[in-house]
Amino acid sequence: MTTVGFIGLGNMGGPMAANLVAAGHDVLGFDLSQTAVATAREAGVRITGSVTELAGAARVVITMLPTGRHVQDVVLGDDGVLKHAVDGTVVIDSSTIDIQSARAVHAAVTERGLPVVDAPVSGGVAKARAGTLTFMVGGTQEAVGLARPYLNVMGGNIIHAGAAGAGQAAKICNNMLFGATMTAVAEAFVLGERLGLDARSLFDIVSTSSGDSWALHNFCPWPGLVEGSAADNGYQANFAATLMSKDLRLALSAADEVGVTLPVSSSANKVFAQLASVDGHLDASAVIRQIRGRD
Ligand code: NAD
Repeated sequence: MTTVGFIGLGNMGGPMAANLVAAGHDVLGFDLSQTAVATAREAGVRITGSVTELAGAARVVITMLPTGRHVQDVVLGDDGVLKHAVDGTVVIDSSTIDIQSARAVHAAVTERGLPVVDAPVSGGVAKARAGTLTFMVGGTQEAVGLARPYLNVMGGNIIHAGAAGAGQAAKICNNMLFGATMTAVAEAFVLGERLGLDARSLFDIVSTSSGDSWALHNFCPWPGLVEGSAADNGYQANFAATLMSKDLRLALSAADEVGVTLPVSSSANKVFAQLASVDGHLDASAVIRQIRGRD
């Protein structure tokens, strides 16, 4: 049993921390939201009053926060993890953040002599609950080896993507692909509708043909075709449009930094930015509404 500190007990962090508790670890948690704290407490997480207190007691610290700024504040800030962590503490950031922030965290934590990995996830809340997330991990072999036993509790696939920031780079590429295919799937249904096709027939054809995709099966934007889809539930979010928009922005900004032009993903980014500005709380598959409204 290890004392694991978990900072950011939201939609993803809450169930991830709960799985660490279920695996027998002593989990200390911290979050600014009282709702998140109350849910985590029910799952057996011991809530601490500050990052300082948590960092002083934990041997592994995991962060699951909204953005790079939050992670830098919590890990590198005045009352942050780094100042108060005991020697040997393993630092794992599982948030989806920009590569520069991830590298800044790696540099400072490594300088302090602690092992660190960026380990963003794919799989959403359902896989966070089931403990079957995919972790894309950046860092040294040694740091990845130290983090792996804890990632194994929360995930089904743990893939070492490369050096510092490589986990975030892989996550950005993956979600950029998801954003682009999600947009294209919605476009296919809107075009099919205008051409007089029956949506069920279109789904049956595409799902067994060269247009098939993960987005079609898991985020089908047309209601009544995939059981349990957000489209059947008023587009209540499984993966919110705001998160998709954030991930596309991160990808486009990373592409800018390395001088790559991405025409398809740039278009998807614009569509999702518009959707996020009006209906960001809805599921990413609600992008079909945005496509319909563009004529
Ligand atoms: P969330 O908003 O539900 O949770 C984030 C939590 O961080 C909140 O409870 C918030 O109160 C807390 N927080 C913010 N600032 C804090 C601080 N300074 N100290 C302590 N707690 C703080 O978000 P989420 O859906 O759990 O996502 C977390 C991360 O995981 C994001 O980076 C997101 O992009 C990524 N992600 C989300 C999903 C998903 O399906 N939700 C999937 C993959 C990756």
